Amino acid sequence: MASVELKQVRKFYGALEVIHGVSLSIEDGEFVALVGPSGCGKSTLLRMIAGLEEISGGDIIIGNTVVNDLTPRERNIAMVFQSYALYPHMTVAENMGFNLRLAGTPKPVIAERVNEAARMLDLLPLLDRKPAHLSGGQRQRVAMGRAIVRNPAVFLFDEPLSNLDAKLRVQMRSEIKQLHQKVGTTSVYVTHDQIEAMTLADRIVVLNQGRVEQEGTPMELYRKPANLFVAAFIGSPA
Ligand code: ADP
Ligand code: MG
Repeated sequence: MASVELKQVRKFYGALEVIHGVSLSIEDGEFVALVGPSGCGKSTLLRMIAGLEEISGGDIIIGNTVVNDLTPRERNIAMVFQSYALYPHMTVAENMGFNLRLAGTPKPVIAERVNEAARMLDLLPLLDRKPAHLSGGQRQRVAMGRAIVRNPAVFLFDEPLSNLDAKLRVQMRSEIKQLHQKVGTTSVYVTHDQIEAMTLADRIVVLNQGRVEQEGTPMELYRKPANLFVAAFIGSPA
């Protein structure tokens, strides 16, 4: 596990500035939701933390290390996308172990870690199945399992539930919550769904057009939104 700190992080696409000097401190083990309307820069910010996108200015610090110039692998971060990024020709176990295999981890260690993650996610009976024979929720759990087996310092989630139907979304929400309670890995969770953010997060960061509008606990934001934008977004009475 590790803390994550952003200091005046900026991002330009050509002449267009999409992230305007964002500073954030995320504590070790904290679950932070990054919310805001479509196009406000959530994915860009997450991809910069992951190292999938270069930063145009500022610093990103994970643990005690400035990671600006480190590759995604060197950052020891796992990213969970909207499920379905599973390999269709591989079994659940192979999907979950794939990144470890790439990293040259010995087979017995892979098997052990995959089993441990599968136990945590109730996937043990499904390890030999192909993704086509799984439900949407099961696929999402495999996608999380693939992230967990690497024992990352930080989890990054980019709207992982947005492909699922409403009922499954509620179920997966509580599974993600339980998982965080069990594993305790520092998590940054991007969503445009305020209910998801309110129920999952220790702290919510509201982003608007590449700037932080407000951050606080779900209750703080609900009770004392800093402005109308936050109030409208969080759905609070102010
Ligand atoms: P969100 O995830 O909050 O919907 P994004 O981070 O995807 O927002 O996008 C933020 C802004 O950056 C948007 O205006 C989007 O059009 C722009 N953008 C994202 N990726 C690129 C890119 N590769 N090239 C140019 N503009 C981009
Ligand atoms: Mg996005």
